[in-house]
Amino acid sequence: MTAFREPLSSVNEAIGETPLVRVHASPDAAPVYAKLESFNPGASIKDRIGKYMLERLLERGDIDPGGTVIEPTAGNTGIGIAVAAGRLDLEAVFVVPERFSVEKQQLMRALGAEVINTPSEEGMGYAIERAHALAEELDNAIVPEQFSNPLNAEAHYETTAPEIDAALDGEVGAVVVGCGTGGTLMGLAEYFLERDPNTHIVAVEPEGSAYREFFGEDVPHEAYKTEGIGTHDIETNDLFDSDLVDEIATIPDRDTHEEMSRLAAEEGHLVASSSAANSVAAREIADRIDRGDLAVPHDTVVTVFPDSSERYLSKGVYRDYEEWEG
Ligand code: PMP
Repeated sequence: MTAFREPLSSVNEAIGETPLVRVHASPDAAPVYAKLESFNPGASIKDRIGKYMLERLLERGDIDPGGTVIEPTAGNTGIGIAVAAGRLDLEAVFVVPERFSVEKQQLMRALGAEVINTPSEEGMGYAIERAHALAEELDNAIVPEQFSNPLNAEAHYETTAPEIDAALDGEVGAVVVGCGTGGTLMGLAEYFLERDPNTHIVAVEPEGSAYREFFGEDVPHEAYKTEGIGTHDIETNDLFDSDLVDEIATIPDRDTHEEMSRLAAEEGHLVASSSAANSVAAREIADRIDRGDLAVPHDTVVTVFPDSSERYLSKGVYRDYEEWEG
């Protein structure tokens, strides 16, 4: 890896070019690679969309320097936007449902942003409404709206995907990625399906989430502990295009929790629940490739580890399952 050998002029230049690391390495199995997104300055994959969306919105004149960016967010997008906004002469305000990790909310405030909490039971739909209502009250304000803004997926098409492609010399057989907004998966899917339409695309969600409704399935909506992926309201998600997706992997919280500890103890990955869910799903796909049950153009499986477990220690991620607050 040659990135970052030269001095950089600001933290925004340190976003991206994260390491791609082989996980659950067994020399006989189909290789699984994970992109370690906690290496970004704001320590998550969302730095990429924070920088990308704000730069494009400024270029287009959708907002001018000195303006206010308002975003409904579970936290990481807020941190990503706040990192980028500070260096682009923009103010940041975030509307965050209460249930999301306090560490993330503290970090958003530390980066100079204002955080407005909404009741958890009202869901993300309500946070989105509040953000738009606030933007209408202010001059020179915009809601980038990660759940519907094509720039979200485009950030991954333009940055995450080509980095993976270059690291693996184009030999990507399956892309297995958890969906919150679906931006990461859609950006990667579009890119790798252009390279090879037979690339196998898997969306990952926690059990209790409703992504299967995009495929016309009727699923019970249940609470889940895994943070950052899944949805209870597919209406709020305009990015997810089920035509690009071959299957949905639905991972129970218990498997995710066990995998979080295993990844730390056995592989040295201090990653959070969405990474662990991705890891479980990616291994299942690799196992099917090994057994000859899944035809793919290359046997390499790619996933992402969106952020680190340090951000969730207060929620007991490494305690017993029952004590993990989720
Ligand atoms: N993991 C974590 C920890 C996240 O914060 C998010 C974003 N909500 C995701 C995964 C999912 O990424 P995306 O929104 O691109 O689907």
